[in-house]
Amino acid sequence: MSGGPGPARDTPGLARVERVDRAPFGFSSDSDQLPVVGPFLRPLLAELTAFRRDLHAHPELSTREVRTTGRIADRLTAAGLTPHFFEGTGLYVDIGHGPIATALRADIDALPVQDETGLPWASTSRGVCHACGHDMHTTVMVGVALVLADLNRSSPLAGTVRIIFQPAEETMPGGALSCIEQGVLDGVPRIFALHCDPRIDVGQIGTRIGAITSASDTVRIELTGRGGHTSRPHLTEDLVFALAEIAVGVPAVLSRRIDVRSAVSVVWGQIHAGAAPNAIPATGFMSGTMRCLDGDAWLAAGELLDDVVSQVAAPFGVAVDLEHVRGVPPVVNTEVETAMIEAAARAELGEDAVVLTPQSMGGEDFAWFLQEVPGSMFRLGTRTRGGETFDLHRGDYVIDEESLAVGVRVMAATALRAVAEAAQHPPVVAPVAPNRLVERPAAKPRSAWAAEATGR
Ligand SMILES: [Zn+2]
Ligand SMILES: [Zn+2]
Repeated sequence: MSGGPGPARDTPGLARVERVDRAPFGFSSDSDQLPVVGPFLRPLLAELTAFRRDLHAHPELSTREVRTTGRIADRLTAAGLTPHFFEGTGLYVDIGHGPIATALRADIDALPVQDETGLPWASTSRGVCHACGHDMHTTVMVGVALVLADLNRSSPLAGTVRIIFQPAEETMPGGALSCIEQGVLDGVPRIFALHCDPRIDVGQIGTRIGAITSASDTVRIELTGRGGHTSRPHLTEDLVFALAEIAVGVPAVLSRRIDVRSAVSVVWGQIHAGAAPNAIPATGFMSGTMRCLDGDAWLAAGELLDDVVSQVAAPFGVAVDLEHVRGVPPVVNTEVETAMIEAAARAELGEDAVVLTPQSMGGEDFAWFLQEVPGSMFRLGTRTRGGETFDLHRGDYVIDEESLAVGVRVMAATALRAVAEAAQHPPVVAPVAPNRLVERPAAKPRSAWAAEATGR
């Protein structure tokens, strides 16, 4: 934190801010002496709302966010900022002076889902829409960039805020890897992100220390064996029976081999075998996901999986081919950074602004950033008070647009706290990531991303 009450000279950048005689500028009512974001945002709100609607009307799938990247870059450039482009799509921008105090991350891609909102700004792209709210994430961060740029003009920030517009979040293992490979975290001591939450009322944010999203892997098991007549299963390797045993046996064994508190969850989405009621087939497969809220358990489950599948299948004499693809680790929010978000939200929006968010078994590639540096992701409430509760990844997801201002205020205020904190206590940027559970896999070649995006 900024160190609480005390003379403004303790926070160099903010001391300069205080001397600026600017009507809309104010300080929060608490004793942190940090500027309030709201007054800076007000003149931008109408434009930002239109910006979000435009993105919503023109969604782009992972790795194809060309127009989106262009729109972001144009707006940042018009504000006097210099966008730095990633290979392919996406960009980042630095605002302020000196060492990087914090990074902020938005994801910019849409989903292969048909828009069913019926809104005037519904998707104009058939079968593609922003059903995960990344149009809002993007616009919030554009808003934060504009507000910080304005603040920085009034009074230079005592540190640099790096805002990352990351492509391809909706793919596995996620576009974050490519951004990290391109060095976007070099010199970054901490990072923040947000995600829309249709189960939290607008005006509130959800926070949690520790895991808020789950590790998410895909598992595919292919069996082969001698097929034959169902009247003589003893003369075959009955892989239909074996598939059924694996379907219930593998989750059961893992639940007794891995700490139950880690919530390892293996759920099958596909089982396919056979073509006739009286013929045992020679091939069959099943596939599903393995999710887990604990990083160590995630690693342990992955190491056990091969043995467990083989042993459950062994009595049937079938040949087993297991394909286990690591997805993303859990998003594990650190304590200090979560406290920074909460303090910023309370100062901007009031004491009731922060609620505890439950853990989600969904995966989120922000986890890769948090393997490298400490940070925290918060949930942005998008439900109209008393209104309908929507769900993410559905075509009818409607965001209460008031959440735009909430997101900008909380995120910008968090960044200002991080700048003040870094100015007081220059962070040590560790050469080796202290939080890393696994070696980062190499980012996929862009051709592979494109293939995957097509397949979804
Ligand atoms: Zn999503
Ligand atoms: Zn998302």
